[in-house]
Amino acid sequence: MVIGGGAPISVQSMTKTAPEDVRGTRSQVRRLARAGAQLVRLTVPGLDAAKAFARVRRGSPVPLVADTHFDPRVAMAALDAGADKVRVNPGNTRSTALREFARESGKRRVPVRIGVNSGSVYHRKGRSRNLARDMASTALAAARRFEDWGQRRVVLSMKAPTVLDTVLACRIVAEKSDYPLHLGVTAAGPQDLAAAKSFAALGALLVDGIGDTLRFSFTGDPVEEVRAGLALLTAMGLRSEGPEILSCPTCGRCRVDLPGLVAAVRRALSAVEDPLTVAVMGCVVNGPGEARDADVGLAGAADGSLVLFAGGRRLRRIGKPTAAVRALAAEVRRMARGRRRRK
Ligand code: SF4
Repeated sequence: MVIGGGAPISVQSMTKTAPEDVRGTRSQVRRLARAGAQLVRLTVPGLDAAKAFARVRRGSPVPLVADTHFDPRVAMAALDAGADKVRVNPGNTRSTALREFARESGKRRVPVRIGVNSGSVYHRKGRSRNLARDMASTALAAARRFEDWGQRRVVLSMKAPTVLDTVLACRIVAEKSDYPLHLGVTAAGPQDLAAAKSFAALGALLVDGIGDTLRFSFTGDPVEEVRAGLALLTAMGLRSEGPEILSCPTCGRCRVDLPGLVAAVRRALSAVEDPLTVAVMGCVVNGPGEARDADVGLAGAADGSLVLFAGGRRLRRIGKPTAAVRALAAEVRRMARGRRRRK
């Protein structure tokens, strides 16, 4: 896979299993890959963990990133363990001590993420009045050293727990360099708050064309991080895979079980990779309009039946929700096949 240089923006996550739990980590990597993660990061806190990483790496369905801190020997061991990318933290590892690792990873063409977090910048520099500028300058200085040492495959990240610091740090780096950027908010909190922060920060950056890969960080199930990342890319029109489902919030006019219907449609289309729009709407107020505008759509009627639309045309009325979902999925597949043939 490619990060940067105009490649599609990738979504990643991180396993939360103990590094020595090879079986549990393998299973979590597979769950994340099934949910749509294109890259998965594993913590590698020491040399033993690097050995476990090598075992998880064998047979992994997606590239794996080794997350290292403090000890440059661990970053080197992660290279030997077959890491597809290694993350180092210049906030807690002296970058001069990383010279050998930079040379070796450059020689082996293994990319490196220089990941600066607000916490570790404070740890080294003390609290300053301008966190965003400190994070940006720490990342850029480390990246330039790595280039001098022969490592040009560098991705940068600058993460803080606040939307503003994260956005400002990334903007500074994007203005001063063209390194690919990994976006994320660190220590973002429980899922609802973390999702809000990440949508705000990453959305603001992506609107400006900043960002090449991203991770949502939740205190919780990492599969939810992947789902949120994919949802953000879909919402911003930056994802070229999978249908986008448009559905109304429902209100007192709705005579169908719209949440149940939307869940059934999602399940029915889970294997579809083509970027189509699918509307699932509650009633005649906005239903027929949205369903006509989408590639394929269903709109609820006052008697509880559903009307199927495809390609802007009303096709037919269907009484049972299960039959309506089957018919919609068939139209989606037919339309996707037609588009692929025309390409
Ligand atoms: Fe309510 Fe109908 Fe609008 Fe849905 S489309 S929110 S059911 S008025």
